Amino acid sequence: MRIRFWIGIGAACAVWGAPGWAQPAAHESLNPEAASGYVARQAVTAQRYMVATANPLATEAGYRMLRAGGSAVDAAIAAQLVLGLTEPQSSGLGGGAFMVHYAARDGRMRVYDARESAPAAARADRFMRDGKPLPFKQAVNSGMSVGTPGLLRGLELAHAQQGKLAWRTLFQPAIELAIQGFEVSPRLHAMLAESRDELLAQPAAARYFLGPDGRPWPVGHVLKNPDYAAVLRRVADKGASAFYHGDIAQDIVAAVRAHATPGDLSVADLAAYRARTREPVCGLYRGYRLCGPPPPSSGPLAVLQMLGILEHFPMAKLGPRSVQAVHYFAEAGRLAFADRGFYVADPEFVRVPVEAMLDPAYLARRAALIHPDRALGTALPGDPAGLLALRGHGNALEVPSTSHIAAVDGQGNVLSMTSSIESAFGSKIFVRGFLLNNELTDFSLSAQDPEGRPVANRVQANKRPRSSMAPMIVLRDGKPYIAVGSPGGSAIINYVAKTLVGVLDWKLDIQQAIALPNMGSRNQATEVERGTALQDMLPALQGMGHETRAVDFPSGIQGIVIDQGRLVGGADPRREGLVMGD
Ligand code: GLU
Repeated sequence: MRIRFWIGIGAACAVWGAPGWAQPAAHESLNPEAASGYVARQAVTAQRYMVATANPLATEAGYRMLRAGGSAVDAAIAAQLVLGLTEPQSSGLGGGAFMVHYAARDGRMRVYDARESAPAAARADRFMRDGKPLPFKQAVNSGMSVGTPGLLRGLELAHAQQGKLAWRTLFQPAIELAIQGFEVSPRLHAMLAESRDELLAQPAAARYFLGPDGRPWPVGHVLKNPDYAAVLRRVADKGASAFYHGDIAQDIVAAVRAHATPGDLSVADLAAYRARTREPVCGLYRGYRLCGPPPPSSGPLAVLQMLGILEHFPMAKLGPRSVQAVHYFAEAGRLAFADRGFYVADPEFVRVPVEAMLDPAYLARRAALIHPDRALGTALPGDPAGLLALRGHGNALEVPSTSHIAAVDGQGNVLSMTSSIESAFGSKIFVRGFLLNNELTDFSLSAQDPEGRPVANRVQANKRPRSSMAPMIVLRDGKPYIAVGSPGGSAIINYVAKTLVGVLDWKLDIQQAIALPNMGSRNQATEVERGTALQDMLPALQGMGHETRAVDFPSGIQGIVIDQGRLVGGADPRREGLVMGD
C-alpha cells in the first residue's frame, strides 16, 4: 500500500490505521469512527516544525521544505503544488485560496486573499434564465462558473513577504511527482466514480481522469501528468506571470470559451488579476484571540459571531455529550448564518458592517434570543448597522470539495490556508494538466430577493464571490496557539467552530477535537453527522422544537496546536490527511 512509503522516513507522522488512538473515556461514545467506518488517529507531536495537509504526498512535500529550513509559507506552497496533482478534485492552479499568517519577526497577522474574481464582462443576471436561477449543476458545469484563478498570484505574494527558500525549490516535489506519477488514492477514485458522467462530458478531463474504457482509474493506478509538470517548470523559472500572461493564459481562456456553455473570461482578466493583503478579522473567545481572513470570506466572521454568542453559555461545563451543548451550538449557528446571508460579500463592492457584527453588545443581544429549551426555528438577521432594510437574501449554494493546510516552521511562523476550486473537480474544464474552478457559483445566483431588494453577494464585474473558507489562527497571551481550517462549503463554519470549542472549552487534543462528530445549523434544519452518537440525540432535539437531519459531513479539518513549545497536529480521519513534523 502506498502509505508504506511514509513509514520509516524518520519524521513523527500519523498514518491511516495507526493503532492506539487515545480518546478520553468521557468522550468515547462520541468517537465517530465506531459507526462511520473511517479510521481514527492519534495526535502527532513534534518539537520544531510541522505541516498538516489532506494528502500524504503533499504533507511530505511540505515536510521536505521545513526540514531544509523553509518557512511555513514555503511548506504550504510545496504542499499546495502537490495537492493540485494528487488531490485535483479539491484545489489547484485553476482556483483560489485564503491564507492567514502569523509572522514571528513582528508578531503580526496578515491575510493573503487569492480569491478568484468575476471577469470584467460579468453581469448580475449571469446565472439567470427566463427570470429563474439556472439549475445549480448546470451553472457549475459551464464556462460561466469560471472565475479568474487567484492561487499562484497569492502564493507568489505570500512567498515574497514570508518565503525563505528559493521559489523554484518549492516546485521540485510536485514536478518530480507529476513526471514519475502518483498512485490514485481511495478518495480520488471514489470522487472520480461520483463525478464520472460530468467528467465524461469534458473530453480533456476524461482523457486524464478516466481510463480508455471511460471508467475511473482504479486505486493504485499510477497517474502521470507531464502537462502539469511543464506548467510548473515555467512558473518555477519565470514566476506567476508565466501563468497569467502568454500561451498558458490564452489556453485557459480558450478552454473556457470552447465549453458548450461558454464563459467570458479574457486574457485581460488574467493579466489584471492581483492577490490582496488584508487586515485579518479578529475576535475574542474566553480570553483567546482568534483571527482569520475578512470578507469576501464569511467564514471567520461567522465563526467569531458563533463563538461570541456561545460565550454566553456554559459550554465547558456542558461538555460534548450534552444535548444542551448541541442546542446552543445550533442556535448560535442559526443566528450567525442569518447575518452572513444578508451582509457578507466582497467589501470592494458592498459595505460589510464587520465591526458592528462583532460588537460584544450586539452579540449579547443575539445570544439573548436563544431560549434554553426551545429552538428558534429560522433565525432572522439582526440589524447591527442600520442596513437591514436595504439588503435582500441571496441564494448561493456551496458544494464541498476544497482543502486545508496548516504549517508551523522552525522560526515560529504559522500559516493556515484554505484552498479551493469549489465543487469536486471544479468546472471540470481541464487545461494543461489542471482543472479550472467553478467559484463564481459562490455568488448568489439571483441578484435580488423576491421583494426586489438587491443581494449583497450578487454577481458584479471584477467582484470576488463570498466564501465560507475559514483558515484561522488562535492566539493565547499574544502567541500563536492553534492553526485550523477545513473544506466543506458553508459547513466549514460549523466544522471550524466545533473544533475550536473542542480544544478551548472541552480541552480535547486537536486530533480528538477534529474527530468530534460534526453538527450545527445553517439556519435551516439542525444537522448532525450521520452514523455518530449525536444521532441518538435527535429525539431530544426534536422535543425542543428542532427540525433535525442526520447528514454526511465529510469535513477535512487539519490543525496544529502549539503548546508550551510542543507541536501537536491532527488530520481529519474523514479524509486522507497526514501530519508530519520534527
Ligand atoms: N467555494 C467554497 C467557499 O469558498 C468552498 C467549497 C468547499 O469548501 O468545498 O466557501
